[in-house]
Amino acid sequence: MNLNCFKWDQDADGIVTLTWDDPKRTMNVLSGETLRDIAAVIEKIASDEAINGAVITSGKQNGFCAGAALDEMESTASGAGAPKSEEERIRDRYNANLGFNLLLRKLETCGKPIVAAINGLALGGGLEVTLACHYRIVADNPRIQLGLPESKVGLLPGGGGTQRLPRLIGAAAALPLILQGNPSDPMKAKEMGFVHKVVPAEALLSEAKKWIKETPDAVQPWDKKGYKIPGGGPHAPGGSTTFTMGNALYRKTSFNNYPAQKFILSCVYEGLQVPIEAGLRIEARYFTKLLMEPASRNMIRSLFLSMQDLNKGARRPAGVPDAKVKKLGILGAGMMGAGIAYVSANAGMEVVLLDTSQEAADKGKAYSTGLLDGQIKKGRATEQKKTEVLGRIKATTNYDDLKGCDLVIEAVFENRDVKADVTKKAEAVLADSAIFGSNTSTLPISGLAEASVRPESFIGIHFFSPVDRMQLVEIIMGKKTGEKALAMAIDYVKQIKKTPIVVNDSRGFYTSRCFGTYVGEGQEMLAEGIAPAIIDNVGRMTGMPRGPLELADDVALDLAYKVREQTKKDLGDKYEPGASDALIETMVSKLGRFGRKNGKGFYEYPSEGKKRLWPGLSDIVSIKVTETDAELVEELRKRFLYRQAIEAARCFEETVVTDPREADVGAILGWGFAPWTGGPLSVIDTVGAKKFVEECDRMAQKYGKRFAPNALLRDMAAKGETFYSRFAPQKKAA
Ligand code: NAD
Repeated sequence: MNLNCFKWDQDADGIVTLTWDDPKRTMNVLSGETLRDIAAVIEKIASDEAINGAVITSGKQNGFCAGAALDEMESTASGAGAPKSEEERIRDRYNANLGFNLLLRKLETCGKPIVAAINGLALGGGLEVTLACHYRIVADNPRIQLGLPESKVGLLPGGGGTQRLPRLIGAAAALPLILQGNPSDPMKAKEMGFVHKVVPAEALLSEAKKWIKETPDAVQPWDKKGYKIPGGGPHAPGGSTTFTMGNALYRKTSFNNYPAQKFILSCVYEGLQVPIEAGLRIEARYFTKLLMEPASRNMIRSLFLSMQDLNKGARRPAGVPDAKVKKLGILGAGMMGAGIAYVSANAGMEVVLLDTSQEAADKGKAYSTGLLDGQIKKGRATEQKKTEVLGRIKATTNYDDLKGCDLVIEAVFENRDVKADVTKKAEAVLADSAIFGSNTSTLPISGLAEASVRPESFIGIHFFSPVDRMQLVEIIMGKKTGEKALAMAIDYVKQIKKTPIVVNDSRGFYTSRCFGTYVGEGQEMLAEGIAPAIIDNVGRMTGMPRGPLELADDVALDLAYKVREQTKKDLGDKYEPGASDALIETMVSKLGRFGRKNGKGFYEYPSEGKKRLWPGLSDIVSIKVTETDAELVEELRKRFLYRQAIEAARCFEETVVTDPREADVGAILGWGFAPWTGGPLSVIDTVGAKKFVEECDRMAQKYGKRFAPNALLRDMAAKGETFYSRFAPQKKAA
């Protein structure tokens, strides 16, 4: 057969081995070309009497199939290059979705036994293809991931996943897998009942062929007479509880911000009440509807496509040869230094962890021991791995140990003089080619670089806490930072498998500056007399991970106060005072309420039980708004989102950020900006610059100049531009 993405190999028993190996991609995905191949293959298997069955496996080292080709899907959904009406685009999309579903239906009803021999990860559409096979065997490798992660990027499984998985294992077991999108390893998948057998990798093909010979008349469970949905349908006693609870849980956890989860519940609920063909139509309809939702389009763009671009080094300067960090120095073994040491040693680097005393350095190294012990307990690491990782970390006080480091990152106290001192001491032993990074969270990089004899090799590498869990690293270019330093910083972030964004030096850089506006807006609301419970609840309803007041407590109110005082001093007349300035001053300097760290902030923290709002707040602010309605909630949500978005737009105008992908991805990963929006610039693009500017003008009148649109936004509004059109990111080949 003439196929592009599969190899066809028919044996003497009439069993075909189809090896999926897309020559144009490093990982198999469901591209248009693949689907054309699958259609041709099914036709041949169904019609050729000499064929007795087929095994589908992968020729790729790294996986079976990673799912839909989201790059193709996004360009279709956004209508790129298609001069079609909205109605035509919807119809095309629906026909394509249904077409894929009918194709897989044809596979499972082709009359010949089909086995998926899964030798690597099968995610999303990849797993859906296997669910349309009669038998699934998986290689015995705990690293293989099997799952339907579509909801994580705002999609739903559109290849029959919402219909076949619940029909296989019941709605109660299937719904959490689909709604949360977390993958299972082969053993777990077998336990749950969506794979049949786990065998050594080398036995996959022989087992598959054996099963085909033993089961010539294979049919799917739901095509057998008398089939019953495990656990019962939506109207059976257990089934109805699943859906009422599922719906309540969806509302509680997502505040109805995520259409994908809502549509998944509908697909399963409606689909299980009808025959599978009708269920597949229902799924195709919801999938189409979802693709037309801005939330899904924005999430796919930011959480998948842009993130992938940045992870591949989209912002890496071309022409600088790849640099791998083999030996890394870390100055300061405190909270951040210890975390950086762990992630780097875990990625295979030799790490020198330096502090002022051996005790402090050892304590920093012990942090890795703790993390690894925790993983061993959960079965996620072995003693051998622990020995290897710890063996790569040298805890020391001796600067000579830094000799031979390709990169040094300082994470000492946030003090200019201490930082200058360690910079000089480290540079004295480093090779000229070494790069020096600072993990400062507030001090401008260009100023810190003044202590360096090689400012072109000095760069900001700003991690987030806790380092082992936070995905983002903000790389900051000082005025004199050169391309070599940038390339090395990006290569290093890639090595530790985190996502880099590159920003220019500025007060608070990009992330801290915009994050501060969320926390600040919550305090402004409180100073206006809005009940604190309303403020934090609406913050979470907006899609932010926590309310602004509880976050302010966590960050520390005295720190926020100090930063604000410093900003006032630095900006002089240009400082815009807010209603909350006096409130914070009272909290910190009069009442000694520093936040969670001293157990006294906007909340109080009893030694037993949960934190609760501090009742004394009503003595220092006059609370006037104690009840909400839909209109107030909408207005507060808008204030939270727009306040952060306008700051991101200002950062863009000031060239603190220069690429919309970085602004959006950095916001979601850095400070938890509502993921359903796709990021702050996606908020503006989705609302439309004109409407956004009008709303901000209204809010500036009502709440203060902090909402006033900048010149860039006004220009974009006048020209009808979006961030992603005006600053279209340059796509770099993978
Ligand atoms: P920390 O107080 O936990 O650790 C600082 C460490 O530096 C201590 O172990 C201290 O002994 C050591 N140190 C001090 N002077 C030193 C010197 N001269 N030589 C060698 N070691 C020295 O602080 P941290 O929270 O880890 O923060 C470190 C840096 O990271 C700061 O610049 C901070 O602004 C930045 N940062 C912190 C966070 C955060 O959430 N904590 C986030 C991002 C960036």
